[in-house]
Amino acid sequence: MNDPIGVKSVIENYDTAAAAAKIKKKYLKKTRNIPLNIAVTGESGAGKSTFVNAVRGLTDEDNEAAPAYGDSTSEVAAYKHPDYPNVTLWDLPGIGTPMFPAEKYLKRVEFRMFYFFIIVSETRITENDVKLALKIQEMGKKFYFVRSKIDKDLRAERRKRNFSKERTLTKIREDCAQGLQAHGIKCSKVFLVSSFKPRKYDFSLLHETLERQLPKLKRNAFVLAMPNISLEIIKKKKQAMDLRLPNVACFGRPNVSVPGLTVSVNLPWLHIIIVMVVDAFGLDIPSLWKLAASTGLSYSDLCAVIKSPLAAAEITEKLLLKVLNQVGVTSELCFELSMINFVESVVGSIPRGRCYRVMEKAMPIILRELADDAQRVFQRVLA
Ligand code: GDP
Repeated sequence: MNDPIGVKSVIENYDTAAAAAKIKKKYLKKTRNIPLNIAVTGESGAGKSTFVNAVRGLTDEDNEAAPAYGDSTSEVAAYKHPDYPNVTLWDLPGIGTPMFPAEKYLKRVEFRMFYFFIIVSETRITENDVKLALKIQEMGKKFYFVRSKIDKDLRAERRKRNFSKERTLTKIREDCAQGLQAHGIKCSKVFLVSSFKPRKYDFSLLHETLERQLPKLKRNAFVLAMPNISLEIIKKKKQAMDLRLPNVACFGRPNVSVPGLTVSVNLPWLHIIIVMVVDAFGLDIPSLWKLAASTGLSYSDLCAVIKSPLAAAEITEKLLLKVLNQVGVTSELCFELSMINFVESVVGSIPRGRCYRVMEKAMPIILRELADDAQRVFQRVLA
């Protein structure tokens, strides 16, 4: 079998860490080819830094987070997406501060390098927002308008007697669109978001829109790197992994036999794959702790809805063998494998045949269980 990412020898020597490092390096090199610079701009205090963090799946407290001071972001700061390194979110200084007066702002922040712009505003469309939008439009670039801190608006409106969440959201959306149209600005979409509640309002819609902007080849990687902020994203993650997983899982020379099944697998390699899948669904222990901290739920609350033995667990090779055994003996695989045994005894060995049959059965089951867990965790958080 060819070695598309040059990790065959390290895997065969059981050096899982070195293999993971190689994959990462290769992956980074590949994905760095097409840089995607997204500018996040707007007035000081509008919630830009907090928004950048939320898009990256972080809260203000995380180490890699953009600092949210609430007054002035005084310099241009670049934040790479933690899992998708060619996507950089640029947290631009607030427009209209003494250091960045509106007239000089556009020159000072190197506008030309950005693929598209996100204008963040916490109130109605301001004069500065209009200046920015017109300039961006003039340069023939795309921009999206994000109306931030929606949680705050709803909290204030909730006090009124005839409060309706839907009516309030529609009114804010219409006000923003009218504000832009009144100045001759064509803006196809206005996204209402709360960076404190990225699972609500239009946050996932914004993610989907950003995803559509990416070159086709890069979309799957972007989808996998997204935080699980909607059921649709979890579904897309599953789809992104579904097709190739059995094939990828059979990579390398099988060297450990699965108890109860007459089949061998390349266990260190399989370990890397499963860890990546669990991470992509945010079901690894550190991600769940982080989610618990950011949502105010307890870690055990989240674990209570998890069913897959691979989620919220330390994934050891022993655990993997146990899971494969369970999937194998409970499906019709045992019979198939005994048939393969028989054929092999007559015509000689079938390369990769057995391993592939096991993975073809096991991987969709493992993937479905993990996707279901990710959905239940998501619903638990929403509830
Ligand atoms: P920036 O100057 O535009 O980067 O704004 P920051 O991100 O520093 O946010 C300004 C203040 O608004 C901070 O105190 C944030 O905690 C707060 N903030 C930001 N986003 C939200 C949000 O979605 N909801 C609420 N309620 N407050 C927010």
